[in-house]
Amino acid sequence: MGLELPLAIERVPGFLAPEEGEALYRHGCRAATLGPLVEIGSYCGRSTVYLGCACRDAGGALFAVDHHRGSEEHQPGEAFHDPALLDPATGAVDTFGSFRRTMAGAGLEPFVLPVVAEGTLFARHFPGPAGLVFIDGGHSLDAALADYRAWAGKVARGGVLAIHDVYPDPAGGGQAPAAVRRLALDSGLFEEIDATESLRVLRRL
Ligand code: MG
Repeated sequence: MGLELPLAIERVPGFLAPEEGEALYRHGCRAATLGPLVEIGSYCGRSTVYLGCACRDAGGALFAVDHHRGSEEHQPGEAFHDPALLDPATGAVDTFGSFRRTMAGAGLEPFVLPVVAEGTLFARHFPGPAGLVFIDGGHSLDAALADYRAWAGKVARGGVLAIHDVYPDPAGGGQAPAAVRRLALDSGLFEEIDATESLRVLRRL
């Protein structure tokens, strides 16, 4: 199945490379037959577009989970802060408006269920199994491990756990996602089936 993007993806704020998005799309199309897809950390919706297109094309639904208050690195004064994403009424980061504009512009609202909540809170009420879980939420070690522990057991057999921002060399970036990947492989429950830039794709055995 060829991916036809419904909008100019580079205009959507975010940190996902096109090759990583295309890999998410491919694996999402296959996984959509096993259960709904779940994205932890949507930000302004760039990765959501790729996974949403998979649901559009393969028949499926995507839960896009984010508290939309920004991660540590998005807060004022931090490295990845974007002043355009501040809510003038509260002075706090709020990415939900931008996310909704992305989904509407992409025509993906029929396939995407936004969940404005912590990923760990949603996990407690999500029975599963999910065809695919994409972990791209908080990148502190505590946040990344919490998301992994909450979600690894929700992946269907034969389904996919995808992890973003895995850098084998610490010079490339923070090591929390790499630690999550190691934990998943060491559990014996997952095997790695794809690596594209900093995206790692693991299949639940
Ligand atoms: Mg990321």
